[in-house]
Amino acid sequence: MAIIILIKRLLLSFRIINITLAETIDMQEPWRIGKLIRIVDETPNTKRFWIEIPEVEQFNFEPGQFVTLDLPIHEQKNKRWRSYSIASSPDGTNIIELIIVRLEGGLGTSYLFKEGEVGMEVMLRGPIGKFTLPETLDKDLYFICTGTGIAPFRSMVHYIHSHNIPHKKVNIIFGCRTMDDSLYLDELKHLEQEEPNFFFFPTYSRETNLPEGCHTGYVHKVYETLISNCKTGDCLPPANFFLCGWKNMVDEARDKLVCMGYDKKDIHLELYG
Ligand SMILES: Cc1cc2nc3c(=O)[nH]c(=O)nc-3n(C[C@H](O)[C@H](O)[C@H](O)COP(=O)(O)OP(=O)(O)OC[C@H]3O[C@@H](n4cnc5c(N)ncnc54)[C@H](O)[C@@H]3O)c2cc1C
Repeated sequence: MAIIILIKRLLLSFRIINITLAETIDMQEPWRIGKLIRIVDETPNTKRFWIEIPEVEQFNFEPGQFVTLDLPIHEQKNKRWRSYSIASSPDGTNIIELIIVRLEGGLGTSYLFKEGEVGMEVMLRGPIGKFTLPETLDKDLYFICTGTGIAPFRSMVHYIHSHNIPHKKVNIIFGCRTMDDSLYLDELKHLEQEEPNFFFFPTYSRETNLPEGCHTGYVHKVYETLISNCKTGDCLPPANFFLCGWKNMVDEARDKLVCMGYDKKDIHLELYG
């Protein structure tokens, strides 16, 4: 009996989440026509796409938000939608940057990588999402990500830097397999030199001989070490955590942080799939 009640509750909560998401998206911004104005290969399977939205003078958004693209890959409209975090920071223009990894067999990314070319129109809606910076940055920030999960954090750190926003330590812990999969490596290393208290930890799971400033293994070891180095006695350093990327990494990081003693309200998640 208890199991049946649990299953019913789960089904109900899924329904609520689905309805809320669909309604939120419908109530929000209108669909707009965007135009691809630049495409650059960042790695062999990751591209940066710049999209201009000519019908607005400025495309306003908060760092960390995403847009939803309506791609001509299915007859049913909700099966055509794919969301992408905005990787650029708001700069008063009507141009945004997305960074997208190609998923083998993925309908949306196969379309974008095959058909995407400068001048192509793409329907988009947004900005959407609440994965955004806290109002005041009075605690250390840990931005933990793998692959293109770095997109919202790139937006946030550039925003903090260009607006001189006071902050405690800001750490990006970025994981990928090899050096060839690095995203925004030089740019973020450069920002690390310019912005006091900003630290970038590129972490590679399949590399051993790495230059200084790079780490081997998985992201988890890196933030666990950083946190334990900042502990005073048994006291955890106050911090806000933002986790972004694919489910396995995000779930594991959240569980580890909760196990360490951090409150769930200080752990913010953006799941890509
Ligand atoms: C809020 C939000 C923001 C996102 N931002 C980005 C972004 O900035 N950059 C980006 O590249 N992607 C991002 N994504 C993921 C993106 O929306 C698509 O899911 C992804 O591009 C795959 O789409 P597809 O049509 O090619 O694959 P589909 O045909 O939809 O995928 C088929 C299956 O593969 C699974 N899958 C999708 N991606 C992966 C993966 N990488 N590894 C393992 N399994 C996967 C899906 O869950 C699905 O079951 C974001 C997702 C969300 C919800």
